[in-house]
Amino acid sequence: MSETSYLWAPPAPVSLPVRGTQARFPVNRLFFVGRNYQAHAREMGTSVDKACMRPVYFTKFAAMLAESGTVAPYPPETADYHHEMELIVALGQGGFRVDEAQAQRMIFGYACGLDMTRRDLQAAAKAKGNPWDVAKNVEHGAVASEIVPAEGKVLRSGEISLRVNGELRQSGDLGDMIWGIPEIIADLSTYYHLQPGDLIYTGTPEGVGPVQPGDRLEGLIEGVGALSFGIGAPE
Ligand code: MN
Repeated sequence: MSETSYLWAPPAPVSLPVRGTQARFPVNRLFFVGRNYQAHAREMGTSVDKACMRPVYFTKFAAMLAESGTVAPYPPETADYHHEMELIVALGQGGFRVDEAQAQRMIFGYACGLDMTRRDLQAAAKAKGNPWDVAKNVEHGAVASEIVPAEGKVLRSGEISLRVNGELRQSGDLGDMIWGIPEIIADLSTYYHLQPGDLIYTGTPEGVGPVQPGDRLEGLIEGVGALSFGIGAPE
């Protein structure tokens, strides 16, 4: 038996630290809920009617993940780079077309996250009916803290906030999510065979806004933890 040989070294696995253990969480895929707080939907000029709408999703490459504490360059091709502070659900089990009870059992834990967004490119894409990829799938644009184990636990409330250079910019409560955590997992599992290691960013509360080179972002989620992220000089 000979080992598989590659033309060049395959990318290293993407992973995150886990509170309370030396073992890291191997990250598989990054899913994002597009609008999951009514006040944020309103500030984006829209509204969500849960009775007749389903969640909107988009994805980023796992390679776009930036660990809390990173300072990343201000990205190219934008003049309106925005912060979106979000709760991340980390899956420890897979599932396809699961009900909410099974969805709950798939929860490994939680983390603090930032869904960084080229807002100008997103607005242009929306206006033209184009895909959001270059607006959302930004290098270093999916920030995540350590993962806090909470197997099978559903977070139903708790303050979520973001400060930029010490000034409060975003403040909301997990209890204001339009779709709750088991609902999101169950709904997403109708489109994808969810897998262990998948991360789901669950949407941002109101107060999104631009960052500038030199800014220092600090996020908090009650009952989960904290993250930090720095914006460096443009490349
Ligand atoms: Mn978001």
